[in-house]
Amino acid sequence: IGDRADFDSETETVCPFCGVGCKLSLKVKDSQIKYVEGLNGPANENRLCVKGRFGYDYIHHSHRLTKPLIRREDAPPKGLNVDPQNWQTHFREAEWDEAMAFAAGGLGKLRQAHGGQSVAGFGSAKCTNEEAYLFQKLIRQAFRHNNVDHCTRLCHASSVSALIENVGSGAVTATFNQIENADVAIIIGANPVENHPVAATFFKQFTKRGGKLIVMDPRGVGMRRFASHMLQFRPGADVSMLNAIMHVIVEEGLYDEQYIQAYTENWEAEKAHLKDFSPEAMAPICGIEPDVLRDVARTFAGAQAAMIFWGMGVSQHIHGTDNSRCLISLALMCGQVGRPGTGLHPLRGQNNVQGASDAGLIPMFLPDYLSVENTEYRDKVIGIWGDNGGDGWAADWSDKKGLTVTEIIDQIYDRNIKGMYIQGENPAMSDPDLDHARAALSRLEHLVVQDIFLTETANYADVILPASALYEKNGTVSNTNRQVQRVRPAVPPPGDAREDWLITIDLAQRLGLNWQYDHVSQVYDEMALTMPSLDNITWERLKTQTVTYPSLSPEDPGQAVVFGDGFPRAGGRAKFTPASVIAPDEVPDAEYPMIMTTGRQLEHWHTGSMTRRSKVLDGVEPEANASLHPKTLRRLGVEPGEMIRLTTRRGSITIMARADRAVAEDMVFVPFAYVEAAANILTNPAIDPYGKIPEFKFSAVRVEPMTAA
Ligand code: SF4
Repeated sequence: IGDRADFDSETETVCPFCGVGCKLSLKVKDSQIKYVEGLNGPANENRLCVKGRFGYDYIHHSHRLTKPLIRREDAPPKGLNVDPQNWQTHFREAEWDEAMAFAAGGLGKLRQAHGGQSVAGFGSAKCTNEEAYLFQKLIRQAFRHNNVDHCTRLCHASSVSALIENVGSGAVTATFNQIENADVAIIIGANPVENHPVAATFFKQFTKRGGKLIVMDPRGVGMRRFASHMLQFRPGADVSMLNAIMHVIVEEGLYDEQYIQAYTENWEAEKAHLKDFSPEAMAPICGIEPDVLRDVARTFAGAQAAMIFWGMGVSQHIHGTDNSRCLISLALMCGQVGRPGTGLHPLRGQNNVQGASDAGLIPMFLPDYLSVENTEYRDKVIGIWGDNGGDGWAADWSDKKGLTVTEIIDQIYDRNIKGMYIQGENPAMSDPDLDHARAALSRLEHLVVQDIFLTETANYADVILPASALYEKNGTVSNTNRQVQRVRPAVPPPGDAREDWLITIDLAQRLGLNWQYDHVSQVYDEMALTMPSLDNITWERLKTQTVTYPSLSPEDPGQAVVFGDGFPRAGGRAKFTPASVIAPDEVPDAEYPMIMTTGRQLEHWHTGSMTRRSKVLDGVEPEANASLHPKTLRRLGVEPGEMIRLTTRRGSITIMARADRAVAEDMVFVPFAYVEAAANILTNPAIDPYGKIPEFKFSAVRVEPMTAA
């Protein structure tokens, strides 16, 4: 590695992987990143996990796109059939001007022939706030509707929906670091040891100094080793378990009457609803003994300060919004919001999914979660954006909620949406029921993909625009803690690749919008005008500081804990919304007798486009694998390392079996990073009615040894 003098430059920026948002320094020599060091950022305090430390080399991979590509007229039919090393039979290289004219020309022609509704967009939580902001602005202005979304729909959309409904804000009420002031914490449906590893180190320290950690998950996730209580409940039974815990709190009078009276509404309805959820009645459903449910209720209600953390195990269900409603109610009835060491914290997944959502990259909200249906909000944004079309055509757009990710895919399949602009997202790997999603993508008349690799989605593109990795960008990102941080380029994008915001501006101009931005700071300044949450957080401040929003003055580093004196809802009160038990969309039966759940692994990130191109990360975890309990493997007559077939009502994959005692005996866990055994071929596209998030965490599956095939 060498010492400092061996490097040509050092650049302070932020890790591109998870929502923890670790601050780090990139050491560069000969235009190559050679070494990464953790810095003292507010979220990471010098720590990094294996992805942040060793996962940087994907940006130098030989698969990087360095020239725009246009689909050849004699290319084979669209499908998942392009070899990233041998793409010439499908695409030809082009100069930027030709590629952009082709990209904009195709989208413009569809707009003219079929109206703006014929084109939609997926932006990216891997891009900066400024890039997310410009992306949603382009779709809204150029196509005059709100059919723009990104991976939050597949991640925490149901959590955000419940938080906005009941607390009035979709972001966390306290940073995860506040756990240092707590004496009890719940982690439910999350596996921070693998998915938020640096946050997990703070959680472990909390238990070391005596904090009681209650872990709830159908899988025996890594934090169980540090838990005072481990509740390995039945998959999909979250609501019955949480309602039983709250039933005990009501029955034994453990709730905080004063807090409830001062800061909440709808308590009587919640109390009445919980009557039917005694631990004895719920135990057979959730698989947790009544005594344990009572002990957990007493422990949480007896805390001086308690926090609740949750992940996609909570959100990715058709009852994901109800799961979050329960967690919010639990915190509210015990007065565990708004003080140091208390709060509600959905651990956000992608590095900038918080910021991209804040910036309006969602179909129902403008920047800062201002409803598209609210005339006052829309007029304010229209006033700031102005008449970018020159003759008034782009100065207004639909006041109807737009379509979400899965709804857009369905509309493409039905040929109602004919053109897409996809920046940095990979729906050909990330969407549920992939055969359907891929068939839809192949039906598009004009697909513009902007990415750093020839992803599975780019296989279906008509034109591919080579973009930049986070370590090549200038801008800001916002982490799970609401902390806004600057990212800076350590190296330039390779070849002719460009920063994403510049490509989006070029496309907007070619679609007739007279956007003028000379520097990314101008985009930030305009974005901040539309977002009251960024008050007092100037580009100038961000040059030297990380600021947590909200920041109450130019000197305030930001509020780590919010809602100490009421909530941003009518009357300043948070709301209890009772939740009933809803069964998963499909339950095991004789044909599909087991339960499949999906997720991530420590070494691989989301659809694997980056981490599978990192030498160290792919070296440690090179092969697609599915985890089953050793007893289940024995029952199936399968040895660890042998191949098995997984089949659901959507399709079938073959994958290597791995033994893992943490997985329940009737379950199989499949990571979704591997294209050769894509888990999402199997997943159920049924969605939560509020957050519109698919049920990735529960599919009925048949598991067979390959010898039986
Ligand atoms: Fe990057 Fe997350 Fe690991 Fe931090 S914890 S280094 S942000 S992947």
